[in-house]
Amino acid sequence: MAFQSPVVQLERNRECLTDWLRSRNIHLPIYGAVVLAYPKQIVGELPLKTKLLYPYLIPSFIKNIPRNTKKLDIETFNWLSAELLNSHQRFIPDPICETYDVKFGDFQTGVRCETCSRFGMIKLPRTWSCPFCNATDCLAHQRTLLEWFLIYKKDITNRECREFLGIEDIHTAKRILQGMNWQSQGTFRNRSYIMNFDNNHFAQSKGGIFIRQ
Ligand SMILES: [Zn+2]
Repeated sequence: MAFQSPVVQLERNRECLTDWLRSRNIHLPIYGAVVLAYPKQIVGELPLKTKLLYPYLIPSFIKNIPRNTKKLDIETFNWLSAELLNSHQRFIPDPICETYDVKFGDFQTGVRCETCSRFGMIKLPRTWSCPFCNATDCLAHQRTLLEWFLIYKKDITNRECREFLGIEDIHTAKRILQGMNWQSQGTFRNRSYIMNFDNNHFAQSKGGIFIRQ
């Protein structure tokens, strides 16, 4: 699978950050580098002007950035740090199937067991059970539904939920979907649920959520 050139991505990010700083009347030079997360990553064509790094080289790259003049006083620095944090927005990528034209059938469905990594956890009252290693996980559906939104599309119907989680009962699927407290659209058979990434269950600690069956 080929991704957009990292050099183009870097330039775009650099431009966005420059604009963001300019809009706050801050003028700082931006030094960029492409960092390859894994040694096995391949770059099709080596960029001529862009610095390419492995993670362990980041500290020395930062140390070698020229710092001849003081650009920010400590007050502005602290204000800018707070501004950066305040402007942070969670990145929610478009579903992989939409972005890369991958077919629905190319993905393994079912609820994956976190203990043994196999697919096919079975819905029991109040929890999920793994038929291979007997592990139970009352939150397994939440993780799997998050994967749905990242893989397929931004909403999910009852039928799709049953197919994806591997459950047969329409009422169980309804309870699971309603228990997520997502917005819904349409009625009856056409009803679909839209995940709210800002108010989701996934950031909560384990055991915080319980779907009553
Ligand atoms: Zn298992």
